[in-house]
Amino acid sequence: MAAAAIDALSPHSEPGDRSALAALHDAVSGCTRCPLSATRTQVVFGSGSPTADLMFVGEAPGFHEDKQGIPFVGAAGQLLGKLLAGIGLTRDDVFVANVLKCRPPGNRDPLPEEIAACESHLFRQVELIQPRVIATLGNFATKLLSGKPDGITRVHGREQEMVLGGTRVLLYPIFHPAAALYTPRMLDVLKADFERLPELLGREAVPPPTVVALPDRPAESPAEQAAVQLGLF
Ligand code: URA
Repeated sequence: MAAAAIDALSPHSEPGDRSALAALHDAVSGCTRCPLSATRTQVVFGSGSPTADLMFVGEAPGFHEDKQGIPFVGAAGQLLGKLLAGIGLTRDDVFVANVLKCRPPGNRDPLPEEIAACESHLFRQVELIQPRVIATLGNFATKLLSGKPDGITRVHGREQEMVLGGTRVLLYPIFHPAAALYTPRMLDVLKADFERLPELLGREAVPPPTVVALPDRPAESPAEQAAVQLGLF
């Protein structure tokens, strides 16, 4: 596992989680499932606490992330750090990952076949980290994790309960910080959506439905048997 990514893991993690995530990092760092493996500098696995309650999922590494091996270290990442500070959190409190682990050349949009090749890495990360809330940053993460085609403008700020990677999570779509870098109106929306995160994190996890065993049905009386034969039941 790359030193930078190990350093980025929280010291508060359980040894089991930490080693499972480190093993996944090692496996993913040699991934050749799609042609991006030929153009990347390195795989950008993700960074933060392996036991984070809050996970962010962005789109794909950019120029700086590809060079440093850590997600969101460029301008959008600086804004993400400021928004986190605004709700009393740091990058060490959360886990940050992307839909794609490798940089698309020229920062073009991820291709459907790249997403398909890479998505199991993200689902495994969710399975191991077991966050309570996953904030999807922008369209690509939102569409992949919600499984729906609805765009971020329509669904931002609307949380939804779902099961991902075998884990019950609150999916919370918000705008990508890059969209807010140069548009003050968008920044206000992003800040407002961020401000709801503490409340979402404090929500009680909804317990799975209880399976109630029904008592055995008493034997049918002769009258019931006759009614069944007559087709009345
Ligand atoms: N944008 C993303 O979606 N991810 C990064 O890691 C950096 C910028």
